[in-house]
Amino acid sequence: MSANVPLQGKTALVTGANKGLGAGMVADLARHGANVVLAVRSVPLGDALVAGLVECSGRLAVVPCDVSQKDAGARAVAAAIDAFGALDILVNNAGQVEPIGHFLDNDSDAWEQAVTVNLFGAQRMARAALPQLIARGGTLVNISSGAGHTPREGWSAYCASKAALAMLTRAIALEYAGKGVCSYGFQPGVVDTDMQVSIRASDMNEISRLRRDQLAAPAVPARWVSWLCAERPRDLDGKDFSINDAALRARVDQWHAVHTC
Ligand code: NAP
Repeated sequence: MSANVPLQGKTALVTGANKGLGAGMVADLARHGANVVLAVRSVPLGDALVAGLVECSGRLAVVPCDVSQKDAGARAVAAAIDAFGALDILVNNAGQVEPIGHFLDNDSDAWEQAVTVNLFGAQRMARAALPQLIARGGTLVNISSGAGHTPREGWSAYCASKAALAMLTRAIALEYAGKGVCSYGFQPGVVDTDMQVSIRASDMNEISRLRRDQLAAPAVPARWVSWLCAERPRDLDGKDFSINDAALRARVDQWHAVHTC
């Protein structure tokens, strides 16, 4: 295995892989040698995404996956194994911020749908993937949010579901770290994606009033996910940590300075 393709031979499945953070992670994981399964709600993929992946070292497969469906995890994991023979990494990235609005103004079904996608979606995927991750000494990354730790006006469903996701990360780590699985909750910061377009349009809270030029590119948090999957830092197992942690950022930068894919 080359030092510059540290994820060579590993297979990663990323939900919500067609755009935003997910697409950034697919590109970075594949650049570091991973085979990546893009789990997406609708196929085919957009031309821009496909063009951005041409230079990657890893192989890619695309599988349909709506995480709000109960059998989403089982189907996507089976497809990943069909494509690459095994699964080493699950990145639960699919998520939604809507409904945005005060709690009593939210449509109740929309509120439940947010929990379904942000929490049950991750649970379904993890349930299907964990036997593989146990067998392979694999890695689970749940893309969480600072909003799971700090309430934001208008985001009750999002905050509650991301807080629950952070606890799911801890619970899985408690039970499966001893079986060789590393589990992380990663808060990616404020990133320039379609989700932030909806947030800006709402003018609801302090995050919605950030200017677009204050947001990070999806490639920035993507670098952290590749680092996590390659290094599997034991001190972060079960933790839900932020991209704003300067000491961790130094470790990520140091790793990328060596692994210059
Ligand atoms: P985005 O651009 O809106 O992308 C969301 C992704 O999730 C899309 O690929 C979307 O697919 C997918 N998705 C939504 N519902 C789904 C479902 N039922 N089944 C499968 N896929 C589904 O948002 P993003 O900013 O990249 O967000 C990615 C993750 O980062 C989310 O978990 C989000 O909470 C988290 N996050 C983002 C920020 C930020 O500042 N952007 C900050 C903190 C955390 P479609 O294209 O089919 O809708």
